[in-house]
Amino acid sequence: MKNILPTPLQYKKNKLTFDGLYLDKIANKRTTPFYLYSKKTLDFYYKTFFQSAVKQGIPEPLVCYAVKANSNIEVLKRLKKLGSGADVVSVGELKKALAAGIDPQRIVFSGVAKTESEILFALKSGKKGIYSFNVESIEELELINQIAKKEKRIARVAFRLNPQVAAKTHKHISTGNKTHKFGLLKIDILEALAVPGFWTNTTLVGLSIHIGSQLTDMKATVAAIKELSNLAHEIELPLEFLDVGGGLGIDYTDEERMKLASIDLYMKTVSVALKKFYFDKSEDTPRIVFEPGRILVGKMGVLVSRVVRTKTSDNCHFTIIDAGMNDLIRPALYEAHHEVLPETKSKKMITTDIVGPICETADCFGSKKKLPTLKTGDLVVIDNAGAYGQTMASTYNERAIAPEILI
Ligand SMILES: *Cc1c(COP(=O)(O)O)cnc(C)c1O
Repeated sequence: MKNILPTPLQYKKNKLTFDGLYLDKIANKRTTPFYLYSKKTLDFYYKTFFQSAVKQGIPEPLVCYAVKANSNIEVLKRLKKLGSGADVVSVGELKKALAAGIDPQRIVFSGVAKTESEILFALKSGKKGIYSFNVESIEELELINQIAKKEKRIARVAFRLNPQVAAKTHKHISTGNKTHKFGLLKIDILEALAVPGFWTNTTLVGLSIHIGSQLTDMKATVAAIKELSNLAHEIELPLEFLDVGGGLGIDYTDEERMKLASIDLYMKTVSVALKKFYFDKSEDTPRIVFEPGRILVGKMGVLVSRVVRTKTSDNCHFTIIDAGMNDLIRPALYEAHHEVLPETKSKKMITTDIVGPICETADCFGSKKKLPTLKTGDLVVIDNAGAYGQTMASTYNERAIAPEILI
């Protein structure tokens, strides 16, 4: 294994432990399913990410954690304590980041559909408003300028460039091509800069990109940083920051583990590309903003579930668990893979489909999987569920939202 990302899970004498505690002890007297997060693992990923940026000589890195990956308030408070800012995509996320104590001057606001009331709220957060509105259309820029004018304030804005690169990832989480709704094309940004009416109450403080999620191949990242740098040179305005977005992937499968860039390799790639395409050709020293989501929280969390019953139908065997696609939709939505691990290891294995309670065929966590023969009440965990798990949960089939426990 070339790249081992730490996880809180470990078998001790065939019993599963989480952060050194026996899982059956943690789950005892708790209703399943529930999300279980490790503060220690969260700390590890934030510190590794930040220190890696520093080690690679990136000037004044600002990590704006992408709140949509996991918006649990305790997780946000912990990240704030570690020094993180936030990347938010709605006023709800903005309020949560502020409630966690994150300084508005460390918050960037992305998203194609910022409404008037959301812009107003962000503009009035703190003394100076938020650090940056990462603008995704000319219409949005006009609206921000209008609102700021009415409020007699200056809004800090950055353009989100659509760098027109194809990130190799699942089609639903690729965002940097011109057929995607995200960002602005270079030509439109240059045109907008030439319209004085857009800039009476806005000031351009940066440029940003974000080309997709669960990225493993670094080529698209380099190509996007090249585009970002070229635009920064072309506009000839001093910028406070360049925002390279998020998207670094984690290993959900062994196959992904082989392809995945480590945090250090990612940082090195970003740093080398910025130097080559930007810093070597400019006197300016903007700070570098990162918007990582998944890499910070993905590995720290699991979804804990119990077996409801097993069932056979002809030669098909089903292990039916009490967690479903309403708790964790990634397999159904993105054909994502999450390993299902038994609490107790055993040599007696069976080939089974692990399915949830929801009345949808897509409610399946794995087909033809080797698992020990399980019975009603046995515990299993669905691994790598810290990112885009609970935040995407729904009450479909009138089910409750699974609680979250941080230890
Ligand atoms: C979702 C998102 C991120 C985080 O993506 P990850 O793949 O979780 O790192 C960063 N920036 C923006 C604008 C996003 O929409």
